[in-house]
Formats: sequence, C-alpha cells, structure tokens
Amino acid sequence: MPNITVCARFRPLSSKEKRDHGDTVCIRRIDTETFLFKDEKEEDFTFSFDRVFYEESKQAEVYEFLALPIVRDAVNAINGTIITYGQTGAGKTYSMEGPGVLECDEKKKGILPRVVDGIFEHIKSFDKIANYSIKLSMVEIYMEKVRDLLDLSKDHIQIKESKVQGILLSGATEISILDPAQALESLSTGIANRAVGETQMNMASSRSHSVYIFTVQQELIGEKRVNAGKLVLVDLAGSEKMEKTGAEGRVLEEAKMINKSLSALGNVINALTCGSGRANHIPYRDSKLTRILQDALGGNSRTALLCCCSPSSSNASESLSTLRFGGRAKHI
Ligand code: ADP
Ligand code: MG
Repeated sequence: MPNITVCARFRPLSSKEKRDHGDTVCIRRIDTETFLFKDEKEEDFTFSFDRVFYEESKQAEVYEFLALPIVRDAVNAINGTIITYGQTGAGKTYSMEGPGVLECDEKKKGILPRVVDGIFEHIKSFDKIANYSIKLSMVEIYMEKVRDLLDLSKDHIQIKESKVQGILLSGATEISILDPAQALESLSTGIANRAVGETQMNMASSRSHSVYIFTVQQELIGEKRVNAGKLVLVDLAGSEKMEKTGAEGRVLEEAKMINKSLSALGNVINALTCGSGRANHIPYRDSKLTRILQDALGGNSRTALLCCCSPSSSNASESLSTLRFGGRAKHI
C-alpha cells in the first residue's frame, strides 16, 4: 500500500493580484494542517492536509517535510514520486526548481536541487556498505507525446515495461551523475532545452508536464544483488480550466489532453489509496503520465503531492479545484 503525503502551498499575493484585486485572500489559517477557504460565493470550506505551507514558508521546510523522507527511501531502493499540481502561476515551478536550478540563492533553492544534494548526502552515510550509481533522465509530456529533454531529436520516446527494471523510457538519454554540480548542470541543460522546444512548437511551458527521473542503484558490498530506487519528480502542466468559449484548435486540444492526463493521475492515486483488500484495477494506461509513473506510484513506494495555490480571492475557483484534487488524493 503506497504511502501518500498531500500538502497545500499558498504563495504570497503577486503584485498584479494586489493591483487588480487588492489584498483580499481566500483563506483563513487555522493551524499548520487546516484552514478555512472562502469561495467566490463567500461559502466556507474547511480543508486539512498533512501540512499547509503558507506564504512565509521556506523552501527548506517544504523540502524537509515532503521530499526528504522520499530521498532517504530512494537511496534504500524504495521508489518515490514528488508532484507539483496547480493552476499556472500558482508556484509549481518555484517549488520544484526555485528561481533557477543553477546559481540561485541558497534559501530559494527548490526541491529539485535539494533532492540532488540530499541523494549525495545520504549515499555518503552508506558508502561503507554499498556502491552507488545515479542516473538522470528528463522528459516532457506534451499532447501525449514524450520528448527527451536531454536530446531534443528524440521526440517520440516509447514507454516500455520490463520485468526486472519496471517502466522504461526506451531510448531516452540517461546521464550518469557523479556529483551534485554535474547533476545541476544537466538539469539546467534540460530546462533550457525545454524552452527551446517550446519556442519551436510555439507552446507555453505551462502546457506540458516536466518529468525528472533519478535512478539510484545500490550494490551492497559482498552481495551480488543490485537494488534500484527510482525517484520521479513531476512539475505538472497548469490545471486551469479552459474558458468555455474562445478555446479552439490546438489550444482546445492541449486543454483536453492536459485534462485527461490530470484526471488519469487523480484516478490512479484514488485507486491506489482506496487500498481495499481486493486487487483493484489501477488505470495506469489511461495516460502517458500515469504510465511513466506506474512503478514510482504503485507497489512499495512513497508519493508526495504539493497542491500549489494562489491566495487571492480572484483565483478562488481554481484554488478550490486544486484543493479538491488534493483532498481526493488523500481521503478516498
Ligand atoms: P507555475 O509553475 O505554477 O506556473 P511559478 O512557480 O512560475 O508558477 O510561479 C509564478 C510566480 O510566482 C513566479 O514569479 C514565482 O517566482 C512566484 N512565486 C511562486 N511561489 C512563490 C513563493 N512561495 N514565494 C515567492 N514567490 C513565489
Ligand atoms: Mg511552471
């Protein structure tokens, strides 16, 4: 039965929100787990999560609460997934990367660079009993196509399943990571490539899912067995609803695909957390996203979902839908 942690994070009001809508916020905090939410019709809802990060929350706190336990497990060959969910502009990428994965203020570093440091730190404490090798792949899912962010010429990566290695991205670049600096270099190359591809395809970054996969292989000294822990980080496409009127052509197609994969993700998490005794069907095959995440979400694994929200009343309906997604992941 997978272990899932669901958190909510509210970023500070943006200057645009303040300018256009004033300081009205849609939440009233109760404690670090619970808050009251006021929707557009002034109706109150109470939400509870494993932890709520309010505007003053530090990047380090977010990392320590939701990512660190997963990093520790990955080093011990237990798979894990860390997902940021929310409407565009809610703080997903800020939480995942920080202002940038390279050369950024130590305090503002996001989950990704901290995960890199964490992996190497934990390996150090086991280096007397095991040899480690770490690999990194980065892909982007756009319109249900998987593209290699470390080699843009590979834009139709196939997802395969092997008995021994689990889910595989067939032919995707895998970089051997020897130290944290090199990992950050590779991540920043992939992130820069994402921008190049977006320009080529005339796509906004918020329309694709970015997926970062660390494979931590552990060979216990004196034993022949090799174990591997897979750690997958996902910065999801914006969850906002398309306006009912106006969206057409590709924008409408994009919106449908995103909607489909986000609901597939919700359905998979629900099916996993249902945990009824019977072997229930988990619909991993309903989207590329859930298929890639199959072995990192299922089985003996850990998942963390960070539901990112704007605190502004002007975004209340999108925030409510994000919080409900998180609530369903946790409770059903
Ligand atoms: P998303 O990836 O969800 O579209 P971003 O992470 O790009 O959103 O965030 C939108 C803007 O809000 C960015 O300018 C970002 O720097 C800022 N921001 C997001 N979260 C925070 C935070 N916790 N503290 C300060 N600024 C934030
Ligand atoms: Mg983003």
